[in-house]
Amino acid sequence: MAKVLIIGAGGVGHVVAHKCAQVPELFDIMIASRTKSKCDKIAEGLPVKVQTAQLDADDTAQTIELIRKFKPELVVNVALPYQDLNIMDACLETGVNYLDTANYEPRDTAKFEYHWQWAYHEKFKEKGLMALLGSGFDPGVTNIFTAYAAKHYLDTLTSIDIVDVNGGDHGQSFATNFNPEINIREVTAQCRHFEDGSFIETAPMSLKRSFSCPDNVGTYNIYRMYHEELESLTKFYPSLKKAQFWMSFSENYLNHLQVLQNVGMTKIDPVMYEGKEIIPLQFLKALLPDPGDLGKTTTGQTCIGVIAKGQKDGEDKSVYIYNICDHLSCFKEVGSQGVSYTTGVPAMIGAMMMLTKKWQGKGVFNMEQMDPDPFMEKLNIHGLPWQVKQDNEIEW
Ligand code: NDP
Repeated sequence: MAKVLIIGAGGVGHVVAHKCAQVPELFDIMIASRTKSKCDKIAEGLPVKVQTAQLDADDTAQTIELIRKFKPELVVNVALPYQDLNIMDACLETGVNYLDTANYEPRDTAKFEYHWQWAYHEKFKEKGLMALLGSGFDPGVTNIFTAYAAKHYLDTLTSIDIVDVNGGDHGQSFATNFNPEINIREVTAQCRHFEDGSFIETAPMSLKRSFSCPDNVGTYNIYRMYHEELESLTKFYPSLKKAQFWMSFSENYLNHLQVLQNVGMTKIDPVMYEGKEIIPLQFLKALLPDPGDLGKTTTGQTCIGVIAKGQKDGEDKSVYIYNICDHLSCFKEVGSQGVSYTTGVPAMIGAMMMLTKKWQGKGVFNMEQMDPDPFMEKLNIHGLPWQVKQDNEIEW
């Protein structure tokens, strides 16, 4: 049994805690977050007894103190990307391994880049510690699907298209599936895709196409956008000539977003209101539904996968690896909607890989640097089974 400190008690933290509690022989958890009552609420619903604590993870000294008190083997960071570096500093100071699901972002610019966290590689290496970055679904499972395709199906990987479809309906006029501030920063950012050796920037949502999901999930409009795993995958698979990320959005979501953007509600620079500085996007977050509460009303499925193309034995080959996840089944199992579930399960499995030493390393690592096989095996066991389609079975 290993002590694990989960930081963050939102939609994803809820699922990580529930999934860890389903493996009590491995995990002994503490949930810590800014608002302790949220940790206590999660703890009340778990089948095992867990500790909870109040923690402002922006404060490295406070985080160090809590780590020294609880003495975990691993910190699972499912707070917000803004806290990544502070929590990594606390792990270095206390000699504890680290895992997260989203790369560091500075508060004042919506930039999704790994260089801030990759810069910690030598420090983690020197201390003999491991930091695993992006162990959610996308990034996370999408990196592992790519690694699995490259390991088992292709001799050379030349292109990837990551397709994230959420065919769910939450019954609200407008809501986001994970933290609204982080979600809106992501979807309103400039699009970047990789082509012939460099990233090319285009306007947000400027390229759209239709995608028919397998297994009757439906046909959706998907939009090309930037997503952080493109950066690590193009680094670790230098044979890639093209790498794109696509996400589905409903007309309703895009219309609301357009209006909110037009009136300045998605801005992240401060404005003065009645003598006080406010950040419009943070104010908007306060008005929107809490993604953690959407589970009871969300129906439909998610379908997220990677279409990888390249050559095998001198012939062109395509492979599509995907997972379909049903929102209501997630709610029945752990009381959350599918987007929190598809992020929380891989975070638990990543932690399991580290604690059982199936994945080991000294330094900072992205998921695709690890052997995908044991992780893929656990996805099938812990609620995110995957399928593979090949060549002319794929419509792309
Ligand atoms: P939520 O907003 O629901 O939860 C975030 C939690 O972090 C809240 O409990 C919040 O506390 C806590 N928190 C925020 N700031 C601090 C702080 N300074 N110290 C301690 N705790 C803090 O977000 P989600 O659960 O939806 O998302 C969590 C993470 O997962 C995000 O980083 C997101 O980007 C990532 N994610 C990754 C995905 C993937 O597939 N890789 C997909 C979806 C999300 P409080 O309640 O007090 O605000």
